[in-house]
Amino acid sequence: MENKVITRFAPSPTGFMHVGGIRTALYAFLWAKKNKGTFILRIEDTDKEREVEGSLNHIIESLNWLKINWNEGPNIGGPHNPYLQSERLDLYKKYAQILIDKGYAYPDPYTEEQVDEFREKAELAKKPFLYREHRPAKFDAWDGTKPLRFKTPEIKSYKWNDLVYGDLSAGPEALDDFILIKSDGYPTYNFAHIVDDIEMKVTHVMRGQEFISSTPKFLSIYEALDVKPPLFATLPPIMAPDGKKKLGKRDGAKDILEYRNEGYLPEAIVNFLALLGWNPGDDREIFTMDELVEAFDISRIGHSGAQMNLEKLDWINKEHIKRLSREELKNNIFKYLPDDLRIEKIIPIISERISKWEDIKNMVSGGELDLFYKKPIFSKEKLIYKNTSPEKIADNLKQAINALEKLKEKDFTNENIKNALMQIADKLENRGELLHPVRYALSGLDKSPDPFIIADVLGKNETLSRLQKAI
Ligand code: GLU
Repeated sequence: MENKVITRFAPSPTGFMHVGGIRTALYAFLWAKKNKGTFILRIEDTDKEREVEGSLNHIIESLNWLKINWNEGPNIGGPHNPYLQSERLDLYKKYAQILIDKGYAYPDPYTEEQVDEFREKAELAKKPFLYREHRPAKFDAWDGTKPLRFKTPEIKSYKWNDLVYGDLSAGPEALDDFILIKSDGYPTYNFAHIVDDIEMKVTHVMRGQEFISSTPKFLSIYEALDVKPPLFATLPPIMAPDGKKKLGKRDGAKDILEYRNEGYLPEAIVNFLALLGWNPGDDREIFTMDELVEAFDISRIGHSGAQMNLEKLDWINKEHIKRLSREELKNNIFKYLPDDLRIEKIIPIISERISKWEDIKNMVSGGELDLFYKKPIFSKEKLIYKNTSPEKIADNLKQAINALEKLKEKDFTNENIKNALMQIADKLENRGELLHPVRYALSGLDKSPDPFIIADVLGKNETLSRLQKAI
């Protein structure tokens, strides 16, 4: 049990979940699963000013949609109940007391005005403001009304190993007497996450690059508590589609549930995010969750920024659509179709043409599917194939009608229609002399599904009537 891998995703409920957050959750989940370990969801809600109502539900709904399931956390509980930091305040006080007893924490004696003065002085001297330079020689006992500060034990350089970025280091400038517990009684992120990672026995901490610069602070707390720190795996930044800057709201850093509204499959989002900063070491690109668990490895997380490529997301989604069962396809597609188009035969026409469900909307109203329930309006000229004469075209269409008339209603299927028409087309100088006018007569569109499938969906009567009209 000693070596059991324990990871956690520790979001703050300060807004919606976007691709960056979800990717962090996914990697931590995959690593725990791969090692038959535990994946914890912990909510870091200690900054009450930044909290956004509804975020907790949003986090839970997003992870549930993507099947990034936690072994311990909100709703399901676990041995470290509760999993909301705001409900764990006593625990942080307990750890604060340990630091006070060891002489590593003190109540901040200054008023806000005094601190402002220190800051201004430092600015005038063009020096960074460091609280530790104003550390009082003596201090009162902590009664909770003042912020509790960490008395950084040793101002020194730190070196540590990051599982992704290798050896990292930072000098003493990264250390300061930062706040452990604020005057409102809530701990800071810097302190609370360490207490929880220790209590929850987290072995691997995965998070973004923004935490590298604070790592010396974290390490000094671990030292003061005399606890071995977990392993750190820093994830590469996600870059905007142009690859030049970090992904911002304008380039797709939107609410992850919006992808659900647009009709992406959860499996595709997971697949896409897994590849945003990690690669399997071979050329595989399409993965189920189980395959990701199998293939995932921290050692293959990249260093350089991962470019957000929405075309790739569409491609991955299309590949996952292809892998759905007939039943799943039908259920999803029918949701977007008007009643009279909910016919089995139409499914392949649609599934081959979309990359996400929302694309169906464009096919239905004023789009390609119109041809199935509206008589096409077509121009004579467009019926003509290259320089074939109109008489020849009419004659070919007559032959088509004759052949199709012979098919019984129940045999009027894609395959039989194709056979019948191909027999005629193969005798012509060019197949297009028949297939083009048939397709155009049935659809009235410059581009459409092939004529056989259209005829199949339209049925015998409607097909013959449209061909007749063209003649
Ligand atoms: N609550 C922090 C955040 O949302 C978590 C960082 C961490 O994983 O330690 O950014």
